[in-house]
Amino acid sequence: MILQRRLQGRRALVTGASRGIGRAVAVRFAREGATVAINYNGSRQAAEDALDAVREETQRIGGTADQHRIIQADISDEHSALAMFDDILHDWGRLDILVNNAGIQSEAESHLYSIAEYHRILSVDLTGALVCSQAAIRHFLSRPGGGAIINCSSVHEIIPKPGFVAYSISKGGLGNLTRTLALEYADRGIRVNAVAPGAILTDINAAWKDDQAARAKVESHIPMGRAGEPEEIAAVFAFLASNDASYVTGQTLYACGGVSLYAD
Ligand code: NAD
Repeated sequence: MILQRRLQGRRALVTGASRGIGRAVAVRFAREGATVAINYNGSRQAAEDALDAVREETQRIGGTADQHRIIQADISDEHSALAMFDDILHDWGRLDILVNNAGIQSEAESHLYSIAEYHRILSVDLTGALVCSQAAIRHFLSRPGGGAIINCSSVHEIIPKPGFVAYSISKGGLGNLTRTLALEYADRGIRVNAVAPGAILTDINAAWKDDQAARAKVESHIPMGRAGEPEEIAAVFAFLASNDASYVTGQTLYACGGVSLYAD
Protein backbone atom coordinates (compact mmCIF):
# COMPACT_ATOMS: atom_id res chain seq x y z
CA MET A 1 0.00 0.00 0.00
CA ILE A 2 1.28 3.46 -0.87
CA LEU A 3 1.36 5.52 2.31
CA GLN A 4 -0.24 8.89 1.77
CA ARG A 5 0.38 11.70 4.24
CA ARG A 6 -2.48 13.92 3.21
CA LEU A 7 -2.77 15.49 6.68
CA GLN A 8 0.92 16.21 7.24
CA GLY A 9 1.36 19.17 9.60
CA ARG A 10 -2.37 19.50 10.33
CA ARG A 11 -3.81 19.66 13.84
CA ALA A 12 -7.04 17.77 14.48
CA LEU A 13 -9.47 17.40 17.38
CA VAL A 14 -11.64 14.28 17.41
CA THR A 15 -14.48 14.18 19.95
CA GLY A 16 -15.32 10.89 21.67
CA ALA A 17 -12.10 9.37 20.38
CA SER A 18 -11.14 6.95 23.17
CA ARG A 19 -12.84 4.05 21.38
CA GLY A 20 -14.81 2.96 18.32
CA ILE A 21 -14.99 5.09 15.20
CA GLY A 22 -13.41 8.13 16.90
CA ARG A 23 -10.34 6.15 17.94
CA ALA A 24 -10.01 4.73 14.42
CA VAL A 25 -10.21 8.27 13.00
CA ALA A 26 -7.50 9.47 15.41
CA VAL A 27 -5.21 6.61 14.40
CA ARG A 28 -5.88 7.10 10.68
CA PHE A 29 -5.24 10.84 10.94
CA ALA A 30 -1.92 10.16 12.69
CA ARG A 31 -1.00 7.71 9.91
CA GLU A 32 -1.61 10.51 7.42
CA GLY A 33 0.66 12.90 9.32
CA ALA A 34 -1.75 14.84 11.56
CA THR A 35 -1.24 15.76 15.19
CA VAL A 36 -4.30 14.64 17.09
CA ALA A 37 -6.19 15.63 20.25
CA ILE A 38 -8.26 12.75 21.57
CA ASN A 39 -11.31 14.03 23.43
CA TYR A 40 -12.88 11.67 25.94
CA ASN A 41 -15.56 11.81 28.59
CA GLY A 42 -15.42 8.29 29.98
CA SER A 43 -12.48 6.12 30.91
CA ARG A 44 -9.15 7.94 31.07
CA GLN A 45 -7.41 4.60 30.63
CA ALA A 46 -9.20 4.04 27.30
CA ALA A 47 -8.08 7.51 26.18
CA GLU A 48 -4.48 6.74 27.22
CA ASP A 49 -4.65 3.49 25.23
CA ALA A 50 -5.94 5.39 22.18
CA LEU A 51 -3.10 7.90 22.64
CA ASP A 52 -0.57 5.05 22.68
CA ALA A 53 -2.05 3.70 19.44
CA VAL A 54 -1.88 7.15 17.83
CA ARG A 55 1.73 7.68 18.96
CA GLU A 56 2.71 4.24 17.63
CA GLU A 57 1.22 5.11 14.26
CA THR A 58 3.20 8.36 14.09
CA GLN A 59 6.43 6.61 15.12
CA ARG A 60 5.78 3.97 12.47
CA ILE A 61 5.80 6.66 9.75
CA GLY A 62 8.89 8.29 11.25
CA GLY A 63 7.08 11.35 12.65
CA THR A 64 7.25 13.19 15.96
CA ALA A 65 4.59 11.92 18.35
CA ASP A 66 5.03 14.18 21.38
CA GLN A 67 2.37 16.72 20.41
CA HIS A 68 -0.53 14.24 20.36
CA ARG A 69 -2.66 14.54 23.46
CA ILE A 70 -5.81 13.52 25.27
CA ILE A 71 -8.34 15.98 26.62
CA GLN A 72 -11.30 15.35 28.90
CA ALA A 73 -14.52 17.24 28.14
CA ASP A 74 -18.23 16.59 28.14
CA ILE A 75 -19.30 18.05 24.80
CA SER A 76 -22.93 18.22 25.96
CA ASP A 77 -21.83 20.84 28.51
CA GLU A 78 -21.09 24.11 26.72
CA HIS A 79 -18.60 25.31 29.36
CA SER A 80 -16.73 22.02 29.29
CA ALA A 81 -16.61 21.98 25.47
CA LEU A 82 -15.41 25.60 25.26
CA ALA A 83 -12.77 25.00 27.93
CA MET A 84 -11.48 22.14 25.78
CA PHE A 85 -11.00 24.50 22.82
CA ASP A 86 -9.31 27.12 25.04
CA ASP A 87 -6.94 24.46 26.33
CA ILE A 88 -6.09 23.08 22.87
CA LEU A 89 -5.61 26.51 21.31
CA HIS A 90 -3.47 27.61 24.25
CA ASP A 91 -1.38 24.46 23.91
CA TRP A 92 -1.10 24.17 20.12
CA GLY A 93 -1.80 27.75 19.01
CA ARG A 94 -3.98 26.46 16.18
CA LEU A 95 -6.45 23.85 15.01
CA ASP A 96 -7.13 22.82 11.40
CA ILE A 97 -9.66 19.98 11.60
CA LEU A 98 -12.59 19.26 13.90
CA VAL A 99 -14.25 15.83 13.86
CA ASN A 100 -17.61 15.83 15.66
CA ASN A 101 -17.73 12.11 16.36
CA ALA A 102 -19.10 11.75 19.91
CA GLY A 103 -22.57 10.25 19.94
CA ILE A 104 -25.02 8.30 22.06
CA GLN A 105 -28.37 6.62 21.50
CA SER A 106 -31.15 4.95 23.47
CA GLU A 107 -34.21 2.95 22.62
CA ALA A 108 -37.86 3.29 23.61
CA GLU A 109 -41.10 3.52 21.70
CA SER A 110 -41.72 7.13 20.73
CA HIS A 111 -44.95 7.55 22.71
CA LEU A 112 -43.06 6.49 25.86
CA TYR A 113 -39.73 8.21 25.13
CA SER A 114 -38.84 10.43 28.08
CA ILE A 115 -38.35 14.07 27.15
CA ALA A 116 -35.46 14.30 29.61
CA GLU A 117 -33.82 11.43 27.72
CA TYR A 118 -34.59 13.15 24.39
CA HIS A 119 -32.76 16.28 25.62
CA ARG A 120 -29.83 14.12 26.84
CA ILE A 121 -29.38 12.53 23.42
CA LEU A 122 -29.75 15.80 21.50
CA SER A 123 -27.35 17.60 23.85
CA VAL A 124 -24.54 15.26 22.75
CA ASP A 125 -25.43 14.25 19.20
CA LEU A 126 -26.63 17.60 17.90
CA THR A 127 -26.07 20.53 20.26
CA GLY A 128 -22.62 19.25 21.22
CA ALA A 129 -21.65 19.20 17.55
CA LEU A 130 -22.96 22.76 17.11
CA VAL A 131 -21.11 24.10 20.16
CA CYS A 132 -17.82 22.50 19.03
CA SER A 133 -18.35 23.74 15.47
CA GLN A 134 -18.95 27.29 16.70
CA ALA A 135 -15.70 27.26 18.66
CA ALA A 136 -13.77 25.79 15.74
CA ILE A 137 -15.25 28.26 13.24
CA ARG A 138 -14.43 31.25 15.47
CA HIS A 139 -10.83 30.06 15.44
CA PHE A 140 -10.80 29.28 11.69
CA LEU A 141 -12.09 32.81 10.97
CA SER A 142 -9.41 34.38 13.16
CA ARG A 143 -6.55 33.29 10.96
CA PRO A 144 -5.80 32.66 7.28
CA GLY A 145 -6.21 29.15 5.88
CA GLY A 146 -9.75 28.25 6.97
CA GLY A 147 -10.37 24.74 8.25
CA ALA A 148 -12.43 21.60 7.93
CA ILE A 149 -15.23 20.14 10.02
CA ILE A 150 -16.45 16.58 9.55
CA ASN A 151 -19.52 15.39 11.43
CA CYS A 152 -20.31 11.79 12.21
CA SER A 153 -23.84 11.38 10.96
CA SER A 154 -25.53 8.04 10.21
CA VAL A 155 -27.68 6.33 7.61
CA HIS A 156 -30.39 7.45 10.03
CA GLU A 157 -29.81 10.98 8.77
CA ILE A 158 -32.23 9.92 6.01
CA ILE A 159 -33.60 6.51 7.05
CA PRO A 160 -35.84 6.58 10.13
CA LYS A 161 -34.82 4.30 13.00
CA PRO A 162 -38.00 3.16 14.77
CA GLY A 163 -37.54 3.12 18.55
CA PHE A 164 -34.71 5.65 18.36
CA VAL A 165 -36.63 8.87 17.89
CA ALA A 166 -34.08 11.19 19.55
CA TYR A 167 -31.16 9.63 17.65
CA SER A 168 -33.02 9.87 14.32
CA ILE A 169 -33.91 13.53 14.98
CA SER A 170 -30.28 14.24 15.99
CA LYS A 171 -28.74 12.69 12.90
CA GLY A 172 -31.33 14.34 10.61
CA GLY A 173 -30.47 17.64 12.27
CA LEU A 174 -26.75 16.97 11.97
CA GLY A 175 -27.19 16.65 8.19
CA ASN A 176 -28.84 20.05 8.07
CA LEU A 177 -26.25 21.51 10.44
CA THR A 178 -23.59 20.26 8.00
CA ARG A 179 -25.28 21.88 5.01
CA THR A 180 -26.11 25.14 6.83
CA LEU A 181 -22.56 25.69 8.10
CA ALA A 182 -21.10 24.65 4.73
CA LEU A 183 -23.13 27.28 2.90
CA GLU A 184 -22.56 29.96 5.53
CA TYR A 185 -18.76 29.66 5.47
CA ALA A 186 -18.04 28.32 1.97
CA ASP A 187 -16.54 31.63 0.86
CA ARG A 188 -14.25 31.80 3.90
CA GLY A 189 -12.20 28.65 3.39
CA ILE A 190 -14.16 26.46 5.78
CA ARG A 191 -15.46 23.14 4.49
CA VAL A 192 -18.11 21.25 6.45
CA ASN A 193 -19.04 17.67 5.54
CA ALA A 194 -20.38 14.54 7.19
CA VAL A 195 -19.74 10.82 7.08
CA ALA A 196 -22.80 8.60 7.47
CA PRO A 197 -21.86 5.11 8.65
CA GLY A 198 -24.21 2.15 8.46
CA ALA A 199 -23.82 -0.73 10.93
CA ILE A 200 -20.26 -0.63 12.28
CA LEU A 201 -18.64 -3.03 14.74
CA THR A 202 -18.29 -0.77 17.79
CA ASP A 203 -19.55 -0.75 21.39
CA ILE A 204 -22.61 1.32 20.47
CA ASN A 205 -23.83 -1.91 18.83
CA ALA A 206 -23.10 -4.12 21.86
CA ALA A 207 -26.68 -5.43 21.56
CA TRP A 208 -25.79 -7.47 18.44
CA LYS A 209 -22.14 -7.30 17.45
CA ASP A 210 -20.92 -10.26 19.54
CA ASP A 211 -24.09 -12.35 19.21
CA GLN A 212 -23.83 -14.51 16.10
CA ALA A 213 -27.57 -14.81 15.43
CA ALA A 214 -28.32 -11.15 16.12
CA ARG A 215 -25.39 -10.04 13.96
CA ALA A 216 -26.47 -12.31 11.09
CA LYS A 217 -29.93 -10.73 11.25
CA VAL A 218 -28.46 -7.19 11.04
CA GLU A 219 -26.12 -8.21 8.22
CA SER A 220 -28.97 -9.79 6.24
CA HIS A 221 -30.33 -6.25 5.74
CA ILE A 222 -27.03 -4.87 4.40
CA PRO A 223 -26.64 -5.04 0.60
CA MET A 224 -22.90 -5.80 0.96
CA GLY A 225 -23.80 -8.58 3.41
CA ARG A 226 -21.59 -7.51 6.31
CA ALA A 227 -21.18 -4.89 9.02
CA GLY A 228 -18.36 -2.37 8.60
CA GLU A 229 -15.10 -1.96 10.50
CA PRO A 230 -14.30 1.39 12.21
CA GLU A 231 -11.19 1.67 9.99
CA GLU A 232 -13.39 1.69 6.88
CA ILE A 233 -15.20 4.72 8.26
CA ALA A 234 -11.98 6.43 9.36
CA ALA A 235 -10.70 6.28 5.77
CA VAL A 236 -13.68 8.36 4.63
CA PHE A 237 -13.07 10.93 7.37
CA ALA A 238 -9.45 11.20 6.23
CA PHE A 239 -10.52 11.86 2.64
CA LEU A 240 -12.97 14.60 3.67
CA ALA A 241 -10.39 16.20 5.98
CA SER A 242 -7.72 16.24 3.28
CA ASN A 243 -7.05 18.44 0.29
CA ASP A 244 -8.29 15.57 -1.88
CA ALA A 245 -11.72 16.90 -0.89
CA SER A 246 -10.77 20.55 -1.48
CA TYR A 247 -13.87 21.17 -3.64
CA VAL A 248 -16.28 19.17 -1.46
CA THR A 249 -18.49 20.92 1.08
CA GLY A 250 -21.96 20.44 2.53
CA GLN A 251 -22.03 16.74 1.65
CA THR A 252 -22.91 13.65 3.61
CA LEU A 253 -20.89 10.72 2.35
CA TYR A 254 -22.62 7.41 3.07
CA ALA A 255 -20.28 4.59 4.13
CA CYS A 256 -22.84 1.92 4.83
CA GLY A 257 -22.42 -1.07 2.54
CA GLY A 258 -25.33 0.15 0.40
CA VAL A 259 -27.94 0.49 3.16
CA SER A 260 -28.78 4.08 2.18
CA LEU A 261 -29.93 2.83 -1.26
CA TYR A 262 -32.23 0.21 0.03
CA ALA A 263 -35.77 0.03 1.38
CA ASP A 264 -36.37 -3.28 3.13
P1 NAD B 1 -18.98 4.31 20.71
O1 NAD B 1 -20.08 4.22 21.72
O2 NAD B 1 -17.89 3.30 20.76
O3 NAD B 1 -18.30 5.76 20.71
C1 NAD B 1 -18.96 6.92 21.10
C2 NAD B 1 -17.96 7.81 21.79
O4 NAD B 1 -18.58 9.06 22.14
C3 NAD B 1 -17.45 7.18 23.10
O5 NAD B 1 -16.05 7.30 23.16
C4 NAD B 1 -18.10 8.04 24.16
O6 NAD B 1 -17.36 8.12 25.37
C5 NAD B 1 -18.15 9.38 23.44
N1 NAD B 1 -19.09 10.32 24.08
C6 NAD B 1 -20.36 10.08 24.42
N2 NAD B 1 -20.89 11.16 25.03
C7 NAD B 1 -19.91 12.09 25.08
C8 NAD B 1 -19.83 13.40 25.61
N3 NAD B 1 -20.88 13.98 26.22
N4 NAD B 1 -18.67 14.09 25.47
C9 NAD B 1 -17.60 13.52 24.86
N5 NAD B 1 -17.61 12.28 24.36
C10 NAD B 1 -18.75 11.56 24.47
O7 NAD B 1 -19.72 4.22 19.30
P2 NAD B 1 -19.23 4.57 17.81
O8 NAD B 1 -19.95 3.65 16.92
O9 NAD B 1 -17.76 4.67 17.73
O10 NAD B 1 -19.89 6.01 17.63
C11 NAD B 1 -19.20 7.13 17.10
C12 NAD B 1 -20.15 7.94 16.25
O11 NAD B 1 -20.56 7.12 15.14
C13 NAD B 1 -21.46 8.35 16.94
O12 NAD B 1 -21.77 9.69 16.59
C14 NAD B 1 -22.48 7.40 16.37
O13 NAD B 1 -23.78 7.92 16.37
C15 NAD B 1 -21.94 7.26 14.95
N6 NAD B 1 -22.45 6.10 14.23
C16 NAD B 1 -22.11 4.84 14.61
C17 NAD B 1 -22.61 3.78 13.89
C18 NAD B 1 -22.29 2.36 14.26
O14 NAD B 1 -22.93 1.44 13.73
N7 NAD B 1 -21.32 2.11 15.13
C19 NAD B 1 -23.46 3.99 12.81
C20 NAD B 1 -23.78 5.28 12.44
C21 NAD B 1 -23.27 6.34 13.17
